[in-house]
Amino acid sequence: MLTGMIAIGGIGLVASILLGIASKVFYVQVDPVVQAVTEALPGANCGACGFAGCSSCAKAIAKGKASPDACLAGGAEAAVAVAQILGVEIEVREPDTARVGCWYPPEEADVRFVYDGVRDCRAAMLLFSGSKLCPIGCMGLGTCVSVCPFDAITIGERGLPEVNKNLCTGCGTCVATCPKAIIQLTSQTRRSQHLYRVDECTAPCQRTCPAGIDIPGYISHIKEGDYRAAITLIKETNPLPLTCGRVCPHPCEEQCRLGRVSDPVNINHLKRFAADYEMGSGVRITPYVAPHTGKKVAIIGGGPAGLTCAYFLARYGHAPTIFEAMPQLGGMLRYGIPEYRLPKAILDWEIEGIIGMGVEVKTGVSLGADLTIGSLQEEGFDAVFLGTGAWDSRGLGVAGEELEGVLPGTRFLIDRGLGKETPVGEKVAIIGGGNTALDAARTCWRLGAKEVTVIYRRSRKEMPANDIEIEEAEKEGVIFHYLAAPTKLMGENGRLTQLEYIVMELGEPDESGRRRPVPKPGTETVIPVDNVIAAIGQFPVTGFLKDNGVALSRWNTIEVVDEKTGATNLEGVFAGGDAVSGASIAVEAIGAGRRAARSINLYLRGEEVSVPDEAIGKDTDLLDPEEIVRVPESARARMPELTVDDRRLSFKEVELGLTEEMARGEAERCLRCGLLCYRREGR
Ligand SMILES: Cc1cc2nc3c(=O)[nH]c(=O)nc-3n(C[C@H](O)[C@H](O)[C@H](O)COP(=O)(O)OP(=O)(O)OC[C@H]3O[C@@H](n4cnc5c(N)ncnc54)[C@H](O)[C@@H]3O)c2cc1C
Repeated sequence: MLTGMIAIGGIGLVASILLGIASKVFYVQVDPVVQAVTEALPGANCGACGFAGCSSCAKAIAKGKASPDACLAGGAEAAVAVAQILGVEIEVREPDTARVGCWYPPEEADVRFVYDGVRDCRAAMLLFSGSKLCPIGCMGLGTCVSVCPFDAITIGERGLPEVNKNLCTGCGTCVATCPKAIIQLTSQTRRSQHLYRVDECTAPCQRTCPAGIDIPGYISHIKEGDYRAAITLIKETNPLPLTCGRVCPHPCEEQCRLGRVSDPVNINHLKRFAADYEMGSGVRITPYVAPHTGKKVAIIGGGPAGLTCAYFLARYGHAPTIFEAMPQLGGMLRYGIPEYRLPKAILDWEIEGIIGMGVEVKTGVSLGADLTIGSLQEEGFDAVFLGTGAWDSRGLGVAGEELEGVLPGTRFLIDRGLGKETPVGEKVAIIGGGNTALDAARTCWRLGAKEVTVIYRRSRKEMPANDIEIEEAEKEGVIFHYLAAPTKLMGENGRLTQLEYIVMELGEPDESGRRRPVPKPGTETVIPVDNVIAAIGQFPVTGFLKDNGVALSRWNTIEVVDEKTGATNLEGVFAGGDAVSGASIAVEAIGAGRRAARSINLYLRGEEVSVPDEAIGKDTDLLDPEEIVRVPESARARMPELTVDDRRLSFKEVELGLTEEMARGEAERCLRCGLLCYRREGR
């Protein structure tokens, strides 16, 4: 026994001596940099970096084959530590997270479509060509959940994957696994540059919104009571939600599928609710701003198009400067839309947020009078955006227009916006049927006019003003005289006293598609008036554009090579908003400003300025959305308003905002439509 123990001890002693010698002879030198990097990594061995384990990742980083922030599990902390070891700077960039691009619940897809017990999306795709419920949507078998190395994905109540942004590292394992490509890595910045495509899930409202807002997404956040998430999502594509929530004529609501069986969802006032919440909370939500690129962009015009373009360019790290001819920013939002619809303090708060992103502003400076595109380029601006709006107005073209008391509609409103005195008499006639006419009429009523008459040459059906404006004006006692046009203005001692109009009837449709108004001879009528306000159309001012070599269309608007990119005939010069479309609506200008910022960003990075073929446009052919079944009728939340008595002689805001209870209830009405199908070859 003792002999055996001595023998084993001896063998052990000899072995340790041999190992000691071997370790000196076969010494493997560990690279101290690799060692240090390995220690800086969290040691999760998750494989999310694409290497087999942390030590392989550390070797790749040390050899320069992977970037210092390659470790996704370690996040920014590990990246900074690794960068310090290597003595390099790391590029700060917005982290990507996974996002599910499908809202159409697969509803027990495996049961309904018999996957024969297959529980893996990839296998089901190979064997059965995927979900038969929706050709592009989620299959709901949850393979992404099982492959996520960070347990960041779960299958939610609706049977769709849900990503926990706090756990997601943006490793892309789910993206590589999903056979339908409905999970994508994305960031706010990428989404802000995204144009909806025919091959992704979009709801009819969202696709119709000229600013491309993820409407079902923000409504869903409101439903859950997460108002900050709602406004963050809205601001991904629209930096002016306080304004839009008040004045947008909401083309999205016309496409709301609920509108087929009930009142459409009050989408716009939900947007206002979220935006008011942000302002009321006093905590401004500012998105990620990329590090400076050193590129400068001149933005001509500080209306919604210019403001939006500047906002997104600042986000992408460029240095925008707005050159604005008027004393303050806002364009027609400030100088056209009256206080009772859009209080200036609210507009100011919204604009302050945009400037705070790093936008320089020079007011009282005009392209043409003070600057040229050439002088801006000489000053070192790398690109130019033209968002100069439609500030010219047409005269009535009738005798007597020079009389005192006859005012152009926009001039009258602009003077009010400038804080000038704008007294009106007792009887005012407004000529026209657009927003300017209605704003002028309601303003005159507030200034004390006793009889305000809107004279419009077509019928109410053709009137371009927002319906709500017409209804509110009617409540305030504005008289509407349809199918009538002025023929003569008459006065005494150079001052207007009477207006003659003629009755019109509607003939054949003109090029606008609306029936042409034709005068009925012998129906001339004279009425007494103290003021006539002409509001029959606005157009871009073109002199300075021509002088700068900017190509114009036959409608005297700026001609863009492609509406989706906003590129003009001049290298590095882009345009959008009313100056391109002609007088339109704010949300169109916002959409154009965002698209132009996307193009300018591509241009400044030396990339091709183009949009993907699959991007949907105004003329993309849609299949009719499916019929709505089992949806009960429900009443829409109505905006609380000031009483008519409280509006007289006052410019207080008329619409008071939805309460939280109303907003949550309204959000519940949303059907959360997911899929809007597009007509494609062979389908
Ligand atoms: C009375 C009125 C009511 C309206 N109501 C609504 C509504 O309820 N809802 C809605 O959605 N839309 C409404 N609109 C339309 C909406 O305001 C416009 O569609 C929108 O403002 C257009 O944005 P924009 O940036 O293209 O141009 P604008 O808002 O017109 O801004 C252009 C800016 O460029 C500046 N500018 C022009 N020339 C130069 C130059 N040479 N150098 C420097 N700066 C220059 C102008 O001063 C202006 O600030 C209304 C418009 C008016 C006139």
